[in-house]
Amino acid sequence: MILVLRPNCSDADVQSVVDRLRESGAIGRVMKSAERTLVAVGNGVRLEPDTFNDDPHVELVVPTVPQQQPADEQQNRGTARGTRAVCLGPANAIVGGQRLGIIAGPCSVEDRQQLLEVAHEVKEAGAIGLRGGAFKPRTNPYSFQGLGEPALEFLAEAREATGLAIVTEVMSVDQTELVARYADVLQIGTRNMHNSSLLAAAGKTGKPVLLKRGWSATLEEMLQAAEYIIREGDSDVILCERGIRTFESYVRHTLALAIVPAVKQRSPLPIIVDPSHGTGVADLVPPLSKAAVACGADGLLIEVHPHPEKALTDGQQSLSIPQFQRLMSDLRTLAPAVDRAL
Ligand code: PEP
Ligand code: MN
Repeated sequence: MILVLRPNCSDADVQSVVDRLRESGAIGRVMKSAERTLVAVGNGVRLEPDTFNDDPHVELVVPTVPQQQPADEQQNRGTARGTRAVCLGPANAIVGGQRLGIIAGPCSVEDRQQLLEVAHEVKEAGAIGLRGGAFKPRTNPYSFQGLGEPALEFLAEAREATGLAIVTEVMSVDQTELVARYADVLQIGTRNMHNSSLLAAAGKTGKPVLLKRGWSATLEEMLQAAEYIIREGDSDVILCERGIRTFESYVRHTLALAIVPAVKQRSPLPIIVDPSHGTGVADLVPPLSKAAVACGADGLLIEVHPHPEKALTDGQQSLSIPQFQRLMSDLRTLAPAVDRAL
């Protein structure tokens, strides 16, 4: 928000406004012009617009966050008004527009060479974003946990080299600042969908957030989790269906595609589908990707590895580069049938 101070405020008056902001944990940056003094409020602290109603030096409070739409519009109106287009960073990287937003890359960033190779290939094939875990949520604490910050540096290098938006997971509140420094989009994984402090911390960064459905979360719960991000002033939330846990065992998870049209009926948020974790089986990824697009998904999150058989994580569900190229070519044929482009 920006505070417009009354004309003829003295330096002491301006300082009193800045001091008041500091007491609330916010930082005030003073901008003086010939006519007026403005104070821009920063530091990610959300103040209610009426906080300064009683301040004799403040004439006007201008909110800088556009009117927020709630994640669940059904509660207000009955149906959603259409999908919000979320820009991932680079101007042409949009999820929620007519063009499908394909985000692809390895499960984990394993080394510089692996990442750069995949990045160039997926870009060439038509992806808008590069995925890759630097911090990996693993069930087994003794398995590969990700390279950490060096992986973030490789991701940033891949962005420079290809122009792809970088999508990577943040696992805890104390990692948020570090991951946000490198990433274009913060991914919140299935295990953290209910972690409200992490959702709020991600929202405070103002970066787009890719929110994966908890593997036992309902649609209702996912939309409420999104609301934790939106209420921090960050409406750039992309939902992601990544499969839920059922009794079925021929797949790793059960990809619940009905959620895609259901979200369209009640939320303005775009929704993409992750058929890699949603099936756990590489051969099932192309058909489920096509099904996801056919039922209205705004994009896909797909694991791709130059040598799936050697992958440190999730090789069994990763597409090889030729498999990914083939899928993209098939999606290019399919997309116009559902009024999409690739
Ligand atoms: C991932 O996409 O890297 C991941 C760990 O996914 P999920 O949180 O859906 O298991
Ligand atoms: Mn994975």
